[in-house]
Amino acid sequence: MSFASDVRGELARQGVTDACCARSELTAALLCGGGIAWRGRGRYALSITAGEAATVRRYFAMLKLFYGIISQIRTLSGDALNNQTRYQLAVADGDAANLLDALGLLDEGSLFGVRPVPPEETVRFACCKKSFVRAAFLMCGAVSHPDKAYHLEIAAPTESLADFIAAQLAYYEIRAKRTNRKSKHVVYLKQAEAISDALSLLGASSSMLAFENVRVKKEVSNRVNRQMNCDSSNINRAVTAAEALIRDIHYIDGELGLEKLPVPLREMAYARANNPEMPLAELGEQLDPPLGKSGVSARLRKLTAIADALRSGDEIKL
Ligand SMILES: [Zn+2]
Repeated sequence: MSFASDVRGELARQGVTDACCARSELTAALLCGGGIAWRGRGRYALSITAGEAATVRRYFAMLKLFYGIISQIRTLSGDALNNQTRYQLAVADGDAANLLDALGLLDEGSLFGVRPVPPEETVRFACCKKSFVRAAFLMCGAVSHPDKAYHLEIAAPTESLADFIAAQLAYYEIRAKRTNRKSKHVVYLKQAEAISDALSLLGASSSMLAFENVRVKKEVSNRVNRQMNCDSSNINRAVTAAEALIRDIHYIDGELGLEKLPVPLREMAYARANNPEMPLAELGEQLDPPLGKSGVSARLRKLTAIADALRSGDEIKL
């Protein structure tokens, strides 16, 4: 079972007790699922098709409970291209126009007499706004497993419907992005927090918890990785600085002769040349008398300054 089908399964089992929400969901299921076909002269064929039997059963129950319509459910077996069984609910022709009318979708001014997006009254209440998005997700939604990517989308069949879905999410301060893919108008979320909010808004709380678990694990391991990368780049920096200093010491020796350096600097140069990668504090302990970290660092800087002066021909201050 994929994460997406877990989410769909959880959403399909959400109870609906209010007529307003049933109306909003059925509207979204018909419009987003592309299940409204015009038969001419005010006649329509209505169907709701989904990959999960639970989704189709959900709308079967809503039609029966809130509209007194007994629909037909059939199984569509997969073809050679797509070997996946799908489930389809069909509304009898005699009930179709009445149902569209009850959903507020009939409109003489629209193409084929059906509104491409529902009237605002369909989502008048906050509960109906999320119901609309829930059904839209059940019909044409997808979500990636958080292990792989943060991505949740609803691929609407029309641009106006995609705008409508995005507007419902925006009501809940979930800001979706938009893109087009093939003939679909995709509303999508890429941020973990927004996806988590959307899952809990639609009622998929177990999926949201599973999502959050993976997200927290990922963030902890990212932080550990970042820390490790940071530590190893610090080590690289230390090695490079030490290498540069060894070059400086050899350069001073060749140009000036280490024996010309004042004793403290000469001792420092020998100690460093013999222990190229030793940490500063330990290096200080090699000296007689021992020297603290900041003292060591000051003497090493002095050696670098001398090498720089030798290279540029400046006066050398020993
Ligand atoms: Zn409602």
